[in-house]
Amino acid sequence: MSHSKRKVATLAFWSIIVAFAVMGLKFVAWRMTGSVALYSDALESIVNVIAAGAAFWAIQVSHRPADQGHPFGHHKAEYFSAVLEGVLIGIAAVLIIMEVARNWAAPPVLDQPWNGLAVNAGAAVVNAIWAFVLIRVGGSQKSPALVADGRHIMADVVTSVGVIAGLIGAVATGWHVLDPLLALLVALNILWEGWKVVASSVDGLMDRAVDPDETIRIRDIISANSQGALEVHDLKTRIAGRATFIEFHLVVNADMSVSQSHVICDRIEEALRKEIPSVRAIIHVEPDDEAKLPKGTASVPFA
Ligand code: ZN
Ligand code: ZN
Repeated sequence: MSHSKRKVATLAFWSIIVAFAVMGLKFVAWRMTGSVALYSDALESIVNVIAAGAAFWAIQVSHRPADQGHPFGHHKAEYFSAVLEGVLIGIAAVLIIMEVARNWAAPPVLDQPWNGLAVNAGAAVVNAIWAFVLIRVGGSQKSPALVADGRHIMADVVTSVGVIAGLIGAVATGWHVLDPLLALLVALNILWEGWKVVASSVDGLMDRAVDPDETIRIRDIISANSQGALEVHDLKTRIAGRATFIEFHLVVNADMSVSQSHVICDRIEEALRKEIPSVRAIIHVEPDDEAKLPKGTASVPFA
């Protein structure tokens, strides 16, 4: 087990524990007050527990080494958990909207509002700290599952703050309809956040290329290390979780030996590996009649 894997897996495990604790606090806050908005917040925290479990599973799978059945590795497992998380978020939003509809005409009067709000605020603080950790470490370890989990939790923090502020307003003004109204806003925000998580994961499942900046960097690395070759063309990249797949055609003199062209390939592969973690490069070597650019133009130009 690599250091990076252990770090991501440990974090994913603790995410489950934190999600359970936060869920408990939010349900206590709801039971103390009877608030629709706090109920919506608590309901959403069930999603967090399931999502944290799914992310933990996906991270275990995605770090499995390549095998006969999956020779390119298992990196994409994390996208599935992110998509599942998006779907669960959608379900939570629908449940909240149903609860809003049920309470709209006669909004409940809150019991013990201050104690309930304090408990909910405590849960929000725990969430905020945890979301920050997940987004930071998930980003540096290139773990879509952790980042999705972190963003989701951060969205919960934003809605919790809105709910707490609004409920303070409701208690102060006696305008009880604020409670279901806030719950509705929570639901809409959750839907939006869920959509973003799904959209970014679908992109990954669809073999999205690396960013334009990264493409330029890759071209520079190849150019700087392909001395002896005539041309590089048909560069393609795709991202799968932590892994970056790169393939391209390398045009060499038709009479160059296989071992000579292999030396060039190895040099380029080595340079790419040094600069980009988890890179898989496949180079297709071609004779000069396959060149796309006129002969003798610049040193290893891209076609
Ligand atoms: Zn070609
Ligand atoms: Zn080789």
